[in-house]
Amino acid sequence: MGETDTQPGPVNTGFSAGLLSALGKAKSVVAFTGAGISAESGVPTFRGTDGIWKKFKPEELANINAFMKNPELVWEWYAHRKRIIAGIQPNAGHYALAKMEQTFLHFAVITQNIDNLHRRAGSHTVYELHGNIERNYCMKCGTTYSNEEVLNQTGAPHCTKCGGLIRPDVVWFGEMLPDDEWENAVRVAASADVFFSIGTSGVVYPAASIPLMAKQQGAFVVEINPEPTPLTDRVDEFLMGASGIILPALYKRFIDDQHS
Ligand SMILES: [Zn+2]
Repeated sequence: MGETDTQPGPVNTGFSAGLLSALGKAKSVVAFTGAGISAESGVPTFRGTDGIWKKFKPEELANINAFMKNPELVWEWYAHRKRIIAGIQPNAGHYALAKMEQTFLHFAVITQNIDNLHRRAGSHTVYELHGNIERNYCMKCGTTYSNEEVLNQTGAPHCTKCGGLIRPDVVWFGEMLPDDEWENAVRVAASADVFFSIGTSGVVYPAASIPLMAKQQGAFVVEINPEPTPLTDRVDEFLMGASGIILPALYKRFIDDQHS
């Protein structure tokens, strides 16, 4: 016993014994992510941003009617977005979730983000509720195309097999969420032992119902956000702050506990 015992250790991130115990026993862990984790990497909201796109609201471009009316314009906007997102890197929060996938028996990310940053960080089981801006497909025959393949074409890109119009593989305003991704999300949320809701406002349904499903099925639900949300009162633990700081700290604490 002495001075050395009271030296400042790792930053006290204030994880509860309940959370650490739930993680220690967890066979199935799910992370549900929204715009907040992308914003920490610098992904813009594309609302009121630069240049000519300032005069459009995203909902005026990201819908099927706008696309069919003026595919060149909508494609120009997506080419702009695709190029910006291609230059953005995953952050420490994305990487911590990829490490968790290697650690727990069952682990899945459910994301509302289209930027592909979870996969680029190394996550494999990722259910994308709103699609993926790095993918595209032919509206006529369904053939998929990479960004390189479509961005090389001038104007609105067309299918090299059937001539059909190619669109980004993202869910637009007014469109249904993809059935298979949604069903997988509901399935993993319902069987989660620990469920993280990260960087999502918890107000856009149906996605906002997923943390509540996990809670109803008995998961220990943790929210990570810079500010409280409508979900905050209903979770087991609220960790206020940036996911890029909290997730790596929590992962480190969990691993340290396993080895002590
Ligand atoms: Zn085609």
